[in-house]
Amino acid sequence: SADAIDLLIYGPTKPVVNEGFPACYALHRCEQPADLDRLGDDIRARIRGVAVTGLVPTQAAMLARYPKLEIVSSFGVGYDHIDSSWAAQHNVVVTNTPDVLTEEVADTALGLLIATLREFVQADAHVRSGLWANQAYPLSKGSLRDRMVGIVGMGRIGQAIARRLDASLVPVVYHSRKPAPGVDYKHYPDLIAMAKAVDTLIVIIPGGASTLRLINAEVLAALGPRGVLINVARGSVVDEPALIAALQSGTILAAGLDVFADEPNVPDELRALPNVILLPHIGSASVVTRSAMDQLVVDNIKAWFDGKPPLTPIPETPVKGR
Ligand code: NDP
Repeated sequence: SADAIDLLIYGPTKPVVNEGFPACYALHRCEQPADLDRLGDDIRARIRGVAVTGLVPTQAAMLARYPKLEIVSSFGVGYDHIDSSWAAQHNVVVTNTPDVLTEEVADTALGLLIATLREFVQADAHVRSGLWANQAYPLSKGSLRDRMVGIVGMGRIGQAIARRLDASLVPVVYHSRKPAPGVDYKHYPDLIAMAKAVDTLIVIIPGGASTLRLINAEVLAALGPRGVLINVARGSVVDEPALIAALQSGTILAAGLDVFADEPNVPDELRALPNVILLPHIGSASVVTRSAMDQLVVDNIKAWFDGKPPLTPIPETPVKGR
């Protein structure tokens, strides 16, 4: 109807999103960038909210096509795929989905760390291949028992990872730009100094320009030959060619990666290495957690058009003018 609230639903199909809005909303679904061009000018002029249902690039040129845009409700806690500075300049609120995924992603990080150290994936292959009948699986070179972990990023998820390491009796230190309020672990303002002091890095910081290839050859060399790198942040945070070289040469021992520089493309060199565990960006990807995230995408938009503050706006787009 003429007074419907028109929403663009952009990205992968999500039943929770498609079915989550009452009849006063008119939904316009575009899965692919090419679908956006098929939206008529009349509809484009009416769009007041965009739900971004996956990590699909949502840059200024895309957002600028909707002159009545008020809110971009983005799926995921990381929003490096959304042009939030354009949104801030144009008084458009951006929301993300923090908290509801924190414990799931921390579980993934700990599971990936232990699987990397104790070689669970390689050991599984040993059973499946029938080799077990001939020979015991060799002792793992790695163990959680003799390690100190440096967490890169001590925000919501970093702190949930640290709690799990506490329970596992593993000492924790961390690097971030500023000390995290209310956190007692030793803070290293200098990443290289921390990499020298520990043998394990778990990376859980935002992507984007300020963290681009933060984990570079120098950091990996500082981590040393017992070194293990776990990345559950963004692929952009690690210098991937430098990591491949460090794994090939024994500069570090092993890596567990949930994220890659050019997803879903994973370099052949990485896939050929025996000392890496590779996951297809599944940090939060369980039915229960993904459905909570999808619901929060819906609830932020509903709160906004009910005239309430959005539930989880990002700090770059404070709510004003309402
Ligand atoms: P928070 O915002 O709560 O924490 C971010 C942390 O990173 C803070 O400690 C912050 O401290 C630190 N940080 C930010 N920028 C830098 C920098 N340039 N150098 C060093 N440290 C930095 O975020 P969450 O814990 O909720 O999430 C973290 C990230 O994890 C998300 O942005 C997302 O990219 C990723 N993620 C990945 C998932 C996956 O599926 N693999 C799932 C969920 C999240 P300070 O500002 O003081 O530097």
